[in-house]
Amino acid sequence: MPQSDELRVAVSAVRAASRVCVKVQRALVTAETLEKRDKSPVTVADYASQAVVCAVLGEAFAELPVVGEEAAAELREDANAALRASVAQHAGLSEGDALSAIDRGGFDPAQDRNVKRYWALDPIDGTKGFLRGEQYAVALALIEEGQVTLGVLGCPNLDGGRLMVAQHGQGTRVLPVEGDALDGEVCRVTDTTESADACFCESVESGHSDHDASSRIAADLGITKPPYRIDSQCKYAALALGRADVYLRLPTKPGYREKVWDHAAGALVVQEAGGAVTDVRGNALHFGAGRTLQPDAGVVASNGKFHGQVIGVVDTVLG
Ligand code: AMP
Ligand code: MG
Repeated sequence: MPQSDELRVAVSAVRAASRVCVKVQRALVTAETLEKRDKSPVTVADYASQAVVCAVLGEAFAELPVVGEEAAAELREDANAALRASVAQHAGLSEGDALSAIDRGGFDPAQDRNVKRYWALDPIDGTKGFLRGEQYAVALALIEEGQVTLGVLGCPNLDGGRLMVAQHGQGTRVLPVEGDALDGEVCRVTDTTESADACFCESVESGHSDHDASSRIAADLGITKPPYRIDSQCKYAALALGRADVYLRLPTKPGYREKVWDHAAGALVVQEAGGAVTDVRGNALHFGAGRTLQPDAGVVASNGKFHGQVIGVVDTVLG
């Protein structure tokens, strides 16, 4: 695999952030936080992860802005002094450096159309999974002229820690999240051609994808396997690793716009492993419009062997 500076830096940033997330999950996600549905562990990890990734990216590519999910405004408030200190400590940065790194993530491509090259970052995708001690991902993508050209997913809880790396035109590789290897095994989507044999994955959270609609779609496609529910962009990893054939993300409420950072890296990981990714109507996803995927609705990803058939059934069921 050709290793550009962007790839080397992106991989090292995602690895560093993944290590921070693992430490925070081990230290702060406890039986007590689980029972209380206490969200504070993920708040620390989310900010610290964005600080680490943006600090590494800023050091290597000062000119490239970042479309990141988090902003530091609340962290600057006096009431959040303890949280701010914890974030800086976990990120291994001074408070000032952590705050300014996090704020590098505030770029909005819709506000500056002249910028054609930038990063998209979800510091912890699947925060609910993180809080349950389950799956989550650090997701980083490079967007150039509206196309995703590099996608890196750090999946610390997948098979003991996996890193998915996709480069436009160069395929998808799977590497250990630990260590510093840059090359890994090539990933391919499944060869399943009959929809009835398919396994489909979807969000654990029914608030993020309509489970009732997906079960109707699965029935219409003749799918009998139970849904494979997994948090975060690990769903895209599951397709690229050949563990599922279809990913359905079906709108739960009108007007919700999917966020660029929730899909950019994952979509390339699936496409470069030979799969297809569209919105629920079969349209290509547009990553260059702003912080959201406009005007797309939902996401359907598959191994590409019967994508049109899935879109047809989705269309019938969603109306
Ligand atoms: P998942 O892990 O598949 O449940 O997806 C997690 C992501 O869902 C989060 O990063 C949120 O940005 C996103 N999200 C939040 N609300 C919604 C919604 N109503 N529909 C779809 N995605 C959502
Ligand atoms: Mg997310």
